[in-house]
Amino acid sequence: MNKIVIDPGHGGSDPGAVYKGYYEKNFTLEIAQSAVDFLEKIYDAEIYLTRKADESSGLSERSVFANNLKADLFVSIHINAGGGTGFESYIYTNAGSKTKAIQNKIHDFLSQFYKSQGFSDRGEKKANFSVLRNTKMPAVLLENLFIDNPKDLAQLLRPGFIQSLGVIIGEGIAKAADLTPKSITAPDQQPKPDPSPPAPAPTWKPEEEIERLKNEGLIANKHSPNDLVNWGEFAAVINRLLGKISNR
Ligand SMILES: [Zn+2]
Repeated sequence: MNKIVIDPGHGGSDPGAVYKGYYEKNFTLEIAQSAVDFLEKIYDAEIYLTRKADESSGLSERSVFANNLKADLFVSIHINAGGGTGFESYIYTNAGSKTKAIQNKIHDFLSQFYKSQGFSDRGEKKANFSVLRNTKMPAVLLENLFIDNPKDLAQLLRPGFIQSLGVIIGEGIAKAADLTPKSITAPDQQPKPDPSPPAPAPTWKPEEEIERLKNEGLIANKHSPNDLVNWGEFAAVINRLLGKISNR
């Protein structure tokens, strides 16, 4: 099971629930994108989104998309509204045991996360929702907090929360679908970069440089290239050089 369709609820002309200028469709897209980024980075899986932008997409279009792909799992992401708080999940009214088992895994993982953030688990539910009814593969719909509850909305707006939620949903999907983590190449097995070309051999010859100073009368004695120069010698060389230049 590794072909997953993630469905950011609503979009385009359908904003979903709206409260104080916040649109469900924007939250669902951000959460879904975070889940996809996480899954693609960590797991060997084919992940598809029913929409990648603020686009309109009919409910039947979404299930047809997943059915044509022959996806293994469909996960629809929503934000709740209408008075309440916390998290709940849905499968189709007549869903089979396989779908129920998948709901259990995703739900348990997510509800632990929500409880750790101080939000209640409203339970695993069933409903006759279009995307659940018309998809041929196991399908789960997640209702993440209530957009019209001030505490829930504040949590949705907390910096980093949407990204974390996306990762948690991604990890829940990975557990439910039994995805395999990508194999990581050990550092010493990674291909080594081409060795850089050898540095060109130095063209200067220290002995000849010293010989030239002697020939020019700037030094009196022959020196070894590794000999240290003291200030007296250095000053003498510079002064001889200055004398030569002023005599020109
Ligand atoms: Zn919705």
